[in-house]
Amino acid sequence: MCGIVAYIGHREAYPVVIKGLKRLEYRGYDSTGVALLNGGNLKVYKKKGKVAELEDYITGKDLKSHIAIGHTRWATHGEPSDRNAHPQMSGDGKLAMVHNGIIENYTQLKKELLSKGHQFTSDTDTEVLIHFIQEIKSSNQCSTEEALRIALKRVVGAYVILIVDEDNPDTLIAARKGSPLVIGVGKGEHFLASDASPIIEYTKEVVYVNDYEIAILKADELILKNISNEIQTPYIQKLDMELAAIEKGGYDHFMLKEVFEQPQTIFDSLRGRLDAKAGKLTLGGLREHMDMLKDANRIIIVACGTSWHAGLVAEYMIEELCRIPVEVEYASEFRYRNPVVGKGDVIIAVSQSGETADTLVAMESAKEKGAIILGVCNVVGSSIARLSNGGVYTHAGPEIGVASTKAFTAQLAVLCLIGLKIAEAKGSITGQRFQHLLDELEGVPDKVAIALKLNDQTKAIAAKYKDARDFLYLGRGYNFPIALEGALKLKEISYIHAEGYPAAEMKHGPIALVDENLPVVFVATKDRYYDKVVSNIQEIKARKGKVIAVITEGDQIISGMADDVIIVPESDELVAPIISVIPLQLLAYHIGVLKGLDVDKPRNLAKSVTVE
Ligand code: GLU
Repeated sequence: MCGIVAYIGHREAYPVVIKGLKRLEYRGYDSTGVALLNGGNLKVYKKKGKVAELEDYITGKDLKSHIAIGHTRWATHGEPSDRNAHPQMSGDGKLAMVHNGIIENYTQLKKELLSKGHQFTSDTDTEVLIHFIQEIKSSNQCSTEEALRIALKRVVGAYVILIVDEDNPDTLIAARKGSPLVIGVGKGEHFLASDASPIIEYTKEVVYVNDYEIAILKADELILKNISNEIQTPYIQKLDMELAAIEKGGYDHFMLKEVFEQPQTIFDSLRGRLDAKAGKLTLGGLREHMDMLKDANRIIIVACGTSWHAGLVAEYMIEELCRIPVEVEYASEFRYRNPVVGKGDVIIAVSQSGETADTLVAMESAKEKGAIILGVCNVVGSSIARLSNGGVYTHAGPEIGVASTKAFTAQLAVLCLIGLKIAEAKGSITGQRFQHLLDELEGVPDKVAIALKLNDQTKAIAAKYKDARDFLYLGRGYNFPIALEGALKLKEISYIHAEGYPAAEMKHGPIALVDENLPVVFVATKDRYYDKVVSNIQEIKARKGKVIAVITEGDQIISGMADDVIIVPESDELVAPIISVIPLQLLAYHIGVLKGLDVDKPRNLAKSVTVE
């Protein structure tokens, strides 16, 4: 979580850092801070709240500096407050540090430091770390860099840290383990950030820092070392991202922009891979693992949140297409419960950011046990991508809205491609069905564009139900995970309590909630479960529940029963989830907006969950 930005070079550093923090605010937004060297003196400004609140607070101050570090926090240790905001400082006031992550053994370190007379002004693990570095520096009479290296050998946890040192005004120090860090390389300047979005407008040359690396940056020098002080050669890559991709482009919110981008982003995730006319499917990232994949004993999909829902859809797809058993696991559970996994198993890790901490650790332990790891993530060069043996990028472009939309549909498209590719290699699908599904997939972007035309209608439905206290979302088969995703979207954006269930499961408990005040959203497109879903709708109506149904065009039966319907184009049930989720995203969005909430940055959430 949290966003980190830093600059060193010929420009004024503060505007670069503040602008970068705004771009990263989606990662965490409970407090903001910057540290800079003004006239050689270390100055720290920080404030509870969003970046704009810090800006107001420091208007009029002399912020001239050619070096600065900044942070937007997503609190893990200590409530959001001015004193817990970053940067945190060493006891002697010479070092300022921003940190993304958690120092797990901070209690032990703090105890040692307290016994040596250190006093703390915050509740953060971060302050303990910077005091610890300063303690090593003064007791060993060594440089900050050396002290950092010694400190990190004792630190347990995950971090990106950046340090400014008043006694070394032309140097920035950074270190990474487990959280993301990108360095932008300019002419006579360097940029650092949690992702490339704050950097892209200045340079496209970047270095992704690896775990256990330390970067020592001057305006015109970049030295990369490992934790044993050995020089590493920085691998400079070119970003293939445009600035426009991370701006709102006329929409009121990033979320709405991203919902509307989906015809294009789904197309992008299929492009170069799917050629329906030629009946061909190419997935370069799976090529060398195809034998292993088609003979897999089991596929385990590991993910969190929305990506976990994409995994559930993929379970249905892959089992049906490939006849390989699939399990879908919450990464946080999988990593700790000593799962039976080993040779012959294939893990598919699904994550938008590619930095999800739980998913990463789950992958690491499965890899150690001999499983093959494939990554399905959106951010090129991310930690998950780098840890995987192979995989497929989703190519949805930067997703800024905290509640995932376009990354989800891109994941569904890519997971469907993976299922089809394995089925083709395995011979578990007929040529006719394979071709049909290629055609269906190719048609999805246009059908999503049609579903998006329901925006105004969905807005009117949102206005009707926005004050409900609870919502129920129901679906069967491929639409069951979509019911879960619809409920999650509503919770995230509107703070309305919502539950998703398989429609038949409703009778085993949730039906007790149904009365005339409960809106029940049915994802009820035409598929093999259709008649059963019609019965489930009857059961809700018999108890006076309000039914909002997402249905297929031409459906007269549910149209006649539901209080409100949203009609989407017909498609094969296997690809239907990519289309039926669209109105649910719009419904959540409009309810959130009508309630006056910040839909791009819902409370308590952060985009990239890099802590456990
Ligand atoms: N653990 C640190 C804190 O609570 C950093 C949290 C973050 O990554 O924003 O301050």
